Amino acid sequence: MADPNLLDRFRGWLGYTARDEALEQNGSNLSASGNHQPRAALSVIDEITEFHRIHELNVTGESLAFAFDLITGSDMRLTGLVNRRLRDEMPIDNEWIETVRINNGADDSRSITKLRERLEKSILDFSQTTRDARSATSDYQTALQGHVDELSAVNKAGEVITELANVAKAMLDRTRDIEDRMARSERETRQLQRRLDEARRSAEIDHLTGLPNRRAFESVLEKEYAEARRSRDALCVAFCDIDKFKAINDLHGHDAGDRVLKLVAKTLAEISDDRCHVARHGGEEFVVLFRGKTAREAREQLDQTRESLASRHLVNRATDTPFGTVSFSAGVADVFAFSSPREALKAADEALYEAKARGRNRIEIATLPRAA
Ligand code: GH3
Ligand code: MG
Ligand code: MG
Repeated sequence: MADPNLLDRFRGWLGYTARDEALEQNGSNLSASGNHQPRAALSVIDEITEFHRIHELNVTGESLAFAFDLITGSDMRLTGLVNRRLRDEMPIDNEWIETVRINNGADDSRSITKLRERLEKSILDFSQTTRDARSATSDYQTALQGHVDELSAVNKAGEVITELANVAKAMLDRTRDIEDRMARSERETRQLQRRLDEARRSAEIDHLTGLPNRRAFESVLEKEYAEARRSRDALCVAFCDIDKFKAINDLHGHDAGDRVLKLVAKTLAEISDDRCHVARHGGEEFVVLFRGKTAREAREQLDQTRESLASRHLVNRATDTPFGTVSFSAGVADVFAFSSPREALKAADEALYEAKARGRNRIEIATLPRAA
């Protein structure tokens, strides 16, 4: 079930009070519309709210990003998918949305960032409204002051006092209402921003292994590259790839393959700390970033991990049959020896290829580019 209170308040703190009847009546059309016209931020947010209400969706980072992409038309495939789903009389629920986003390789973090930007703009607009309202109450105060002055100056006290009481009451009501709305707005903004931050974090994690994914790694690489350059620290990158992993899948099945993948991830993650970052690059490939280590030192550390994994006797607990040796090969490159982090990654990948060619279960250091 959608949380109607949250959605109501969501509208509320964006300064919406009156419900748009036309939107309500045409809900099902609206839910599938992929209108590509630019729209006002509030209207997009209103439609996102309606989409959740109509389909009784739980408000999650994914559902918000989906509704955002659908409504702004930033992912045009979604309109067709939603229309087909409605035609087949199948529910638009959180589970389906999740499947669609996984299959479409949705870039959650980008949608969420855009949604957050719009939200922030709406919140700024709302603050402006409250500032305007506050200045309106100060107008009341001026009016009040005027009446008080009049009261002491002229003789028609009865008439002025009645009017004075009315103005004072209106002023108090309005001030209280504004205070309530501002307090609610602040609470809800914090709540939604927390949700969006969670969604953003979750878009940077590989769900099978729990490691940061490639996107997260790329931003860490960018940050560490800039910092290491400033502080003149060494920086190395390594590509690791499980040896003959296809055979493990073929012999033991995909689920057992997943368990091996998780074990390799866990083993590699043991070397990570604030100066060593391990991520899943994709498939059965991992990347490691070493700050403050030369290529030789990085290779030495990674080699200990390689050795300890390769010396284990792993058994498939589902069938009690041994997996045989599980090992990985790796290529290490000194980032500053190349023209850019991208070139260093390429060199590490080539060194990995070399390690495979030389028999696997070993680590090679990338050859340095020839001086120009
Ligand atoms: P090499 O030593 O040359 O790296 O051989 P390989 O068999 O590891 O390499 P190849 O690229 O031929 O196969 C990689 C396999 O990894 C194929 C693919 O099905 C499997 N794989 C990729 N991602 C996953 C995953 O998430 N789970 C499972 N179980 N298998 C995966
Ligand atoms: Mg591979
Ligand atoms: Mg492999």
